[in-house]
Amino acid sequence: MQTESKRIEGSQAAPARLRAGKEIVKKPGLAPNLSTYEQVYRSFDWQEAKKEIDYLSGGKLNAAYNALDRQLTNGRRNKVALYAVDAHEHLRKYTFQELADMTNRLGNALRSLGVNRGDRVFVYLPRIPELYAATLAIAKLGAVVGPLFSAFGPDALRDRLLDSEAKIVITDRSLKSKIDEVRQQLPDLEHVIIVGADPQALRQGEISYEKLVEQASDILECQAMDPEEPLYMLYTSGTTGKPKGVVHVHNDIIGQHMTSKWVLDLKEDDIYWCTADPGWVTGTVYSIFGPWSNGASVVAYEGRFEASNWYHLIQRLKITVWYTAPTALRMLMKAGDQMVYKHNLDSLRHILSVGEPLNPEVVRWGMKVFGLPIHDNWWQTETGMQLIANLPCLAVKPGSMGKPLPGVQAAIVNDEGVEVQTGQLGRLAIKPGWPSMLRAIWRNEEKFQEYFRIPGWYTTGDNAWKDEDGYFWFVGRADDVINTGGHRVGPFEVESALVEHPAVAEAGVIGKPDPERGEIIKAFVILNNGFTSSQSLIEELQEFTKMKLALHAYPREIEIKETLPKTRSGKIMRRLLKAWELGLPTGDTSSLEDD
Ligand code: ATP
Ligand code: MG
Repeated sequence: MQTESKRIEGSQAAPARLRAGKEIVKKPGLAPNLSTYEQVYRSFDWQEAKKEIDYLSGGKLNAAYNALDRQLTNGRRNKVALYAVDAHEHLRKYTFQELADMTNRLGNALRSLGVNRGDRVFVYLPRIPELYAATLAIAKLGAVVGPLFSAFGPDALRDRLLDSEAKIVITDRSLKSKIDEVRQQLPDLEHVIIVGADPQALRQGEISYEKLVEQASDILECQAMDPEEPLYMLYTSGTTGKPKGVVHVHNDIIGQHMTSKWVLDLKEDDIYWCTADPGWVTGTVYSIFGPWSNGASVVAYEGRFEASNWYHLIQRLKITVWYTAPTALRMLMKAGDQMVYKHNLDSLRHILSVGEPLNPEVVRWGMKVFGLPIHDNWWQTETGMQLIANLPCLAVKPGSMGKPLPGVQAAIVNDEGVEVQTGQLGRLAIKPGWPSMLRAIWRNEEKFQEYFRIPGWYTTGDNAWKDEDGYFWFVGRADDVINTGGHRVGPFEVESALVEHPAVAEAGVIGKPDPERGEIIKAFVILNNGFTSSQSLIEELQEFTKMKLALHAYPREIEIKETLPKTRSGKIMRRLLKAWELGLPTGDTSSLEDD
């Protein structure tokens, strides 16, 4: 990990301006699935959660059995499992039974191609029903699912397929050409299965999905897996460096199930939409395994981001629970309040966000336009499930990630693993023992061990502080924290302050080396529609941040940009801003969004 360079001694108090953040948003609504926090937190044990999971004989387990097969015998057979809306807004509905049939046919077909437990089978598809069926089919066989984001280009594909030694890729006609570009470099890749293939154009090693499943049986028993056998492997976002191949196991389903119940708060009648693509961990865990294990109806939207389309979808399907990301919310905010008011979004009852820090301004905006707080929650590809969250039963403090879930011990520690005092900055660390912690970094034991270099802790690579009510506040990636004139400043607080100014839509903040101050704060800013760059606006933004934060915490340099470099999962890549600024090598950019 690249967190060594900036040591946190645990002696630095969180700035008073942060500790002053006492704003609390009260919430109306249905009784949450987790109705009291303190009491459950004190007494909860993961053994209890196992009662909610169906085991196969001999203590064996299959996550796909829990997400799908068990719904066929508990009264949900004919319930809609998937509302699939394609890029042309055409809607198709699949019941749990229909999804199971589709899954089983593909599972049997994959088996006929020689797929065995432990084999890596990657899914490189747009958000079409086959993506969801494929993920479950692979898991049912005990093979390892490898989700790939459909916007990946050939280099990103090659890196992941080569590293994982994938045996099969399931793709579609529109994406296949990207695999063609690198196929020669992938000696382990035996078959490419293509949804919607032109049968005349198939080449050696290519198989039509439809032909493959046509004759296959729709009866398939789930492979009984040891809970510690791999379920999926997924590469991290690559925000801080080269993406890591994180390996998760079937036992993860316990955490996936419980967090979907507690944090997403899914109930029988919910229509739930997670906007994350299943090529990222949020999409795999929280649009497939977690919600379906709870028997929820899931929405898959193939279309791209467009404010009016998103609101229209919520209105059309009467979506009740909506899980999205700060970058999307900031773009929705930029699209304006009128755009919200043109739609009827009364069905919404619970909104969540993950992936990046959620600016308090966005939470306030959510209250204004949706009448609901947006529930930030924190986790990582490596943690396999949400660990810290603004639970529905707790008041939301805008800007805070919330509290550790029952069964999760989170702490702010120094480099020796000693907990620092309340209100002090430090490293965010978690006590190992939650069910879906990563089990390996694929073929990289050394990298895996780095997460545990502070004895007794899993280190997250993020810096944060905890307030006296036990809420956690994100400060920044350990690598991103800026040291200016002896003060530590997290990029997030500066970005959040800038975003509060009406002219600013998005901001990315870095530390730039400075002979006098160690580092100065530099901000890259995207302006809202109707604002133009000028020296007086820059000065105004500087004054504004000084006023909001502190004299030392304002950006001495501000550069107006049209776009900010982001990962394909929508995170601002501050390391790239820094590399460009300093004329340094950019490192791995396979995750960089390029359109
Ligand atoms: P890489 O590990 O390859 O650099 P990444 O860390 O962005 O990429 P992910 O696992 O997708 O890959 O993201 C996890 C990280 O995202 C967290 O460590 C944290 O920095 C950030 N993050 C996630 N949720 C939140 C949140 N609610 N608030 C602040 N930061 C968050
Ligand atoms: Mg990370």
